[in-house]
Amino acid sequence: MAHSKALLVLENFIAGKFVPCSSYIDSYNPSTGDVYCSVPDSGKEEVEAAVRAAKDAFPAWSSKSPLERSRIMNKLADLIEHDLEEFAQAESKDQGKTITFARTVDIPRAVHNLRFFASSILHHTTECTEMASMGCVHYTSREPVGVAGLISPWNLPLYLLTWKIAPAIACGNTVVAKPSEMTSVTAWMMCKLLEKAGMPHGVVNVVFGTGAKAGEALVCHPDVPLISFTGSTLTAQRITEKSAPHCKKLSLELGGKNPAIVFDDADLSQCIPTTLRSSFANQGEICLCTSRIFVQRGIYSEFVKRFVAEAKKWKVGNPSDPTVNMGALISKEHLEKVRSYVKRAQAEGARILCGEGVDSLDLPAGNHKGYFMLPTIITEVRDESCCMQEEIFGPVTCVVAFDTEEEVVERANGVKYGLAATVWSSNVGRVHRVARRLQSGLVWTNCWLVRDLNLPFGGMKASGIGREGAKDSYEFFTEVKTITIKH
Ligand code: NAD
Repeated sequence: MAHSKALLVLENFIAGKFVPCSSYIDSYNPSTGDVYCSVPDSGKEEVEAAVRAAKDAFPAWSSKSPLERSRIMNKLADLIEHDLEEFAQAESKDQGKTITFARTVDIPRAVHNLRFFASSILHHTTECTEMASMGCVHYTSREPVGVAGLISPWNLPLYLLTWKIAPAIACGNTVVAKPSEMTSVTAWMMCKLLEKAGMPHGVVNVVFGTGAKAGEALVCHPDVPLISFTGSTLTAQRITEKSAPHCKKLSLELGGKNPAIVFDDADLSQCIPTTLRSSFANQGEICLCTSRIFVQRGIYSEFVKRFVAEAKKWKVGNPSDPTVNMGALISKEHLEKVRSYVKRAQAEGARILCGEGVDSLDLPAGNHKGYFMLPTIITEVRDESCCMQEEIFGPVTCVVAFDTEEEVVERANGVKYGLAATVWSSNVGRVHRVARRLQSGLVWTNCWLVRDLNLPFGGMKASGIGREGAKDSYEFFTEVKTITIKH
């Protein structure tokens, strides 16, 4: 693959210093197919150094007051916000997402994550009970766990990394973070701001590299008692296995195969644009993206007609063009994988209504080698088909008809995942009933991706173990103790 002239070379960030690595891996710009960045290929040695730095920093950081920690985190949030445009440009180039998405979703949310946990740490209370007959008072206290290992994926790089770093350090832990080897740049940029924010050395360490080498070294390290992981279900299985001998605390945020259920009393003027976004935003590379749309038979034809017409209007192309709706997929391999699902659906007799294999891509000259595909809609597909069962994690969504509420709940639940669902109806009773019966960690009614960080986030079944959010993250990133005093 062609190397562009001036490669961006990243370094690990350990004990407050940038440290070069003995070997590097190539990182591609997904919208051009060019290598543009060298990412440290860290392994045991680098992870060892980072864990040591985090251990050394732990006593002082954990004994700071929440307010002191909060001030530093707020300062970091301000610094990232000040450089928002630079961060957004870097995220778009590194990941392939549109500049608009990076500007309006990724980087603002990274800033918000830091501010949110900087604030929420000031408001937790612990429990107290009294046993008057025994002359005893019981109360709980919460302590940080130690060195937290944080492993994040490539789809929302800084957004998901800060979703872990913020609660971990707010609670008084120190961290070793390992971003995805495919999207490391904004984590490295954030490290450049830590000193200015007043972050003591060793509180936040970032080790770059692959999952197999750097990730696994972190997971297996005996001095890392806690791993917060966001990524695929397959990797989570391996992490669970590898960490089991150490009895680590695990939080696992994994894949999804999210249904949208559209009843015949849905407001299609709201439902169609939102379901387009929920299917294709960020190239369909969001764990919460819709990939199975169940439409009640009475409105099925109308829905399909309008949905396809709107999808065809989505502009795919250079991510830095603000008029573009969809950028490039993360890698050549991932693009091939997503395309292969469409081919398999076709081979099984499904119909492709628009996108891959049906319409042609019109890309600017500089993007011909990029990893692009069109929003793709599949119909006449069986529930057992791989396209209806497996996480595709790309701009592909299936639309099928249903008749009754009872039937659609059963079909929506008929996959191994249970992350997010959307329900479209104007019948309040029905949306409550259906939401309660769906096996899904999140259910959005007549909307999508509306998040209050106070409330639990996470999946059921193969979509994860544990929840994150104000109270849940606090509980995960601390150990609770019950203390009894007899008076
Ligand atoms: P992935 O599992 O391949 O990688 C995620 C991270 O784990 C990367 O940093 C990777 O280097 C690391 N890793 C890989 N193998 C490892 C190992 N053996 N030990 C330790 N670390 C290892 O996932 P991905 O392809 O980067 O991301 C896409 C997946 O993430 C999708 O399944 C998506 O649904 C999921 N995801 C889930 C959420 C959520 O909150 N539930 C959010 C975003 C993405």
